[in-house]
Amino acid sequence: TPEHDTLLAVFEATLAATPDAVAIRYFDGTLSYADLDAASDALALGLLEGGFAHGDRMGLYVQNDPAFVIGLLGAWKAGGSAVAINPMNKAAELTYLLTDSGATALLCLDELYSSVAAGVLPETSVTTVVTCSGLDRQTRGDARLFEGTTKTTPEGTQDLDGLVERFAGQQPPPVQLSGDDIGVLTYTSGTTGRPKGAMNTHSTMVFNACTYREWMSLGPDDVVLGVAPLFHITGLIGHVAIAMLVGCPLVVAHRFHPDVVLEAIREHRPTFTVGAIAVFIALGNAEGATRDDFTSLRAVYSGGAPIAPAVTDQLEEKLGVYVHNIYGLTETNSPSHGVPFGVKAPVDENSGALSVGVPVYDTVVRVLGEDGEEVPVGEVGEFATSGPQVVPGYWERPEATAESIPGGELRTGDVGFMDAQGWFFLVDRKKDMINAAGYKVWPREVEDVLYGHPAVREAAVVGIPDEVRGETVKAYVSPRPGATIDPDEVIAWAKERMAAYKYPRFVEVVDELPKTTTGKILRRELRARN
Ligand code: ATP
Repeated sequence: TPEHDTLLAVFEATLAATPDAVAIRYFDGTLSYADLDAASDALALGLLEGGFAHGDRMGLYVQNDPAFVIGLLGAWKAGGSAVAINPMNKAAELTYLLTDSGATALLCLDELYSSVAAGVLPETSVTTVVTCSGLDRQTRGDARLFEGTTKTTPEGTQDLDGLVERFAGQQPPPVQLSGDDIGVLTYTSGTTGRPKGAMNTHSTMVFNACTYREWMSLGPDDVVLGVAPLFHITGLIGHVAIAMLVGCPLVVAHRFHPDVVLEAIREHRPTFTVGAIAVFIALGNAEGATRDDFTSLRAVYSGGAPIAPAVTDQLEEKLGVYVHNIYGLTETNSPSHGVPFGVKAPVDENSGALSVGVPVYDTVVRVLGEDGEEVPVGEVGEFATSGPQVVPGYWERPEATAESIPGGELRTGDVGFMDAQGWFFLVDRKKDMINAAGYKVWPREVEDVLYGHPAVREAAVVGIPDEVRGETVKAYVSPRPGATIDPDEVIAWAKERMAAYKYPRFVEVVDELPKTTTGKILRRELRARN
């Protein structure tokens, strides 16, 4: 049972207990909990001065920088919430998110301000703009944070460093936040449809921060490695919220780059991380990486995208760590299921799928058939999840809320089954099913097999239009470093290993598969290429 209703209360408890403990490690710089407190006080005061009021929204448009955490805390201290915005978003997407959420303030990296935000802000309801700096690979030696500002800010904006200097020693008036208040609006990543703002209330976020703490036994001696983007639910809960809750350092490095993260691992010796499987594949392939680099990582979890069993084996060999599967959605504040820490997930004999684990605390998952009724154990249906981590709905979308979260139970759009021991297996996303001449082909199953091919680094399978079969199976594959792939050979190899209706009739080799910033392969984009 969580001790606190809100993540702000969680932060304040840690601050009171260990004000000088390291909260963030960022290249050569560190920020203590007291530093975060002072900076977020100043931001809150800046927001309030600009007219920000209880319940208002502040866009948060930064990379994996300390400003992300300061932004969250500042928005909460001013009585409002944050809209987590993907820093890869361009003008049209930014405009959509700010307009949809009705944000009145924006905290934004300098370079994102000049390259994107400045041009679109007049079309939005944003009136207060605070800019801030982040460090990239080139400037990391020069970790100048909050040492007073010499920089000139664009007209009509303020600078975070400047606010910290101006409001030094001052505190915003106390706020009353409850567990039901929205802490963050996280927009579904848009692998399907138009983004909707999931309302991550404080209580739903706190609950799953506690889930991480208990599931992996995390404590103040841990060091969290931030490899997932902080704007995404995995980063928000699995990095920021968990570090705040247990009062341990969070290592962030602006944006994911395998070489930079490898360096951070060597320097800061993290103990826990969670991210997309693509991240671990990239780390394993990073130049100069050896098993010694990863020995401090005692708990490694991968969520957000399917994992082929062959890949867990390859990673265990390469990194020397077992990557546990964890499953959830934006709407479940990260995990609804996880593989218990220290346990290896079973692989289903028929489908070849690696289990996504068992439901986490207080979470009930029903498997529903087409008629909306629960199906028997072992049968395939849609996962419907209820628990204290499920969001109450989508921002200003009562119809979508009623459709996707009827009675508080989330229809995940994911299809799978539970075995007799209670392990859950995901077959695939409902919408990605391929119908080849009446046969159902689930892309993940085909991909799992392709990952076992010695030259294949990553694989994605989609259905493409076919005159005779309606749809047919096509695979996109990227080669491992130094390997070359012969498409015909892969087709023949796959044919030997799966039923005739499943194996890919077409194989296309690409250097990189298209991905979201969270490392999720975009099958939608591949489908559109045909
Ligand atoms: P959108 O809702 O716009 O389509 P999205 O579904 O990618 O975007 P997220 O909430 O980030 O948004 O992703 C949740 C989805 O990711 C799940 O529904 C599931 O399909 C997939 N997923 C998450 N964890 C796992 C896992 N461990 N194994 C397989 N798939 C996973």
